[in-house]
Amino acid sequence: MIKEGWEAVIGMEVHAQLATSSKIFCGCAVETGGEPNSNTCPVCLGLPGALPVLNRRVIELGARAALALGLEIQETSVFSRKNYFYPDLPKGYQISQYDKPFSANGTLTIMTSERDDQGRAVEWKPMKIHIERMHLEEDAGKNVHEGLPDVDKYSYVDLNRAGTPLGEIVTAPDFRTSWQAYDYVNHVRSALRWIGASDADMEKGNLRCEANVSVRRVGETGFNNKSELKNLNSVRFMQKAIEFEIERQIDAHEKGEPVNQETRLWDEKNQCTRVMRSKEDAHDYRYFPEPDLQPLVVTSEFIESVRREMPELPDAMRDRFVTDYSLSFADASHLVSDKDLAFFYEAAAEASGNPRVTANFILSELQRELNNSGRSAADCPFPPGELASLIKTLDSGSINNNQAKEVLVEMFASGKSASDVITEKGFKQVSDETAIAKYVDEVIARNQDNVDAYRAGNEKLFGFFVGQVMKASEGKANPKVVNEILRSKLQSNDG
Ligand SMILES: [Zn+2]
Repeated sequence: MIKEGWEAVIGMEVHAQLATSSKIFCGCAVETGGEPNSNTCPVCLGLPGALPVLNRRVIELGARAALALGLEIQETSVFSRKNYFYPDLPKGYQISQYDKPFSANGTLTIMTSERDDQGRAVEWKPMKIHIERMHLEEDAGKNVHEGLPDVDKYSYVDLNRAGTPLGEIVTAPDFRTSWQAYDYVNHVRSALRWIGASDADMEKGNLRCEANVSVRRVGETGFNNKSELKNLNSVRFMQKAIEFEIERQIDAHEKGEPVNQETRLWDEKNQCTRVMRSKEDAHDYRYFPEPDLQPLVVTSEFIESVRREMPELPDAMRDRFVTDYSLSFADASHLVSDKDLAFFYEAAAEASGNPRVTANFILSELQRELNNSGRSAADCPFPPGELASLIKTLDSGSINNNQAKEVLVEMFASGKSASDVITEKGFKQVSDETAIAKYVDEVIARNQDNVDAYRAGNEKLFGFFVGQVMKASEGKANPKVVNEILRSKLQSNDG
């Protein structure tokens, strides 16, 4: 929660590694875990005279990513040199894009919610995010240090990663809370995986994010100094770092202390952010157009061919679920937050003929089981058709809602079919009126005192009778039928 009278202003930068098999400007393989410097050549080693050649696959995957994030692909974009010196950057500059990015002006609708003390979502609401640009660039290599933290004995440079293609996705400063930023990054991650543009795995470093955070008093329109949070290894660390930073800055402003423009890191051990470098060290990159590459021209035919090869996008699928299956926007959004889950849902909904109840079961029961077991819907122990058959049985009235939930849990644990579990648990519900009337008669005969009291006006006793009939039927009587028969028998005086 942000202190009253203040608001946070947060912009996000996400670097996504595009899932190509070779690098962006040379033929070297992109792979993790290879022998250091084994996937290198004169181009990605930055040797004099070596010339870059743009990898077409980067453009295809970049176009996929742009379309999935609601960005407009620019007809002409230009690669530029971003000049700075660092040992993992042998050329002394990074080939990136500057004033003419590959794509720009995107609008993305995400679902977001604040969280309570336990980290549970309070209320999911749609939020429109403006994505300023996604440009294409090459990654740098990696510096590896040995002997830290006491003595920096040796440092090595591994250039296997140098020249790996990245899409850098930059938003407007639209976020006001850490959880909005958290939900945004998860949305982007899921969308990029959905269309196969990136593995988007933060642990492996192929999705990296930075948050620009500043605070201001509510009503102010200008911006105060911001800090740039870097090296965030997980979405959760990022959220915590932003939260810490908001409080730290508000505190400093209120005490009249300076808030410097600086880069900060998240220290998970001490749960705080620390200064990495201050504005004084800020780079002046002296961008200029890369003379060894032509401007990149993308035709509308190319964009159309990429669009045709793409699977249905999550946003389109969400809207279709709302229209075709009468789901709420929030439910449909949650179903499409994960591709496997969305496809599982659609198959089950079609087979069950009851899309609403199918969505309820997936979003509550099944998702809980999946989360607890750390599986994705693709590894669900039973196929969508089995969930459909469970829901059909529920709809026929032969089991009740609680029983259906219990059956689902058992199906998940054992991988057995719905009908096997229902039989094993003895869950065949009795809806036959003659059979239930018999139970009702027995109960009325055994409890004449209570029957008299009920008829004299003690209506609270109705629940007692329902309980007795359910007990007599060993829990198998259909409660709806029990209610109807009990009511009619208790009202008529023929006992
Ligand atoms: Zn190379």
